[in-house]
Amino acid sequence: MCKPTIISREGDVSVTHCMDCKIVNIWNRNVLITFSFEQFNAFVDSTRGLQFDDYIEHHPDGLEVVILASPFPDISLVFTRVEWHEFFAALHQAVYMQQIYQMVQA
Ligand SMILES: [Zn+2]
Repeated sequence: MCKPTIISREGDVSVTHCMDCKIVNIWNRNVLITFSFEQFNAFVDSTRGLQFDDYIEHHPDGLEVVILASPFPDISLVFTRVEWHEFFAALHQAVYMQQIYQMVQA
């Protein structure tokens, strides 16, 4: 039976995982992204060090945003500056918590 645990929360972003199914869910308002543990770590590694200021584009309403390709074709993630920082803070906290869970389990 699936028992998701919240491993981080930052602003609108929550990250849960299930140790049995070995999946990570990133909940971000109306977007839910599901990764295997391996996919999650690969995603975090591939996005680590990205700077908001290096990728600024403009939303149709004029807001500065950064668009990040998602692992899924034709779906991109759009972040304001605040959302960007919340998203990656939540992810990095989740990685840290996963390491703790894996140490406890080992
Ligand atoms: Zn599960």
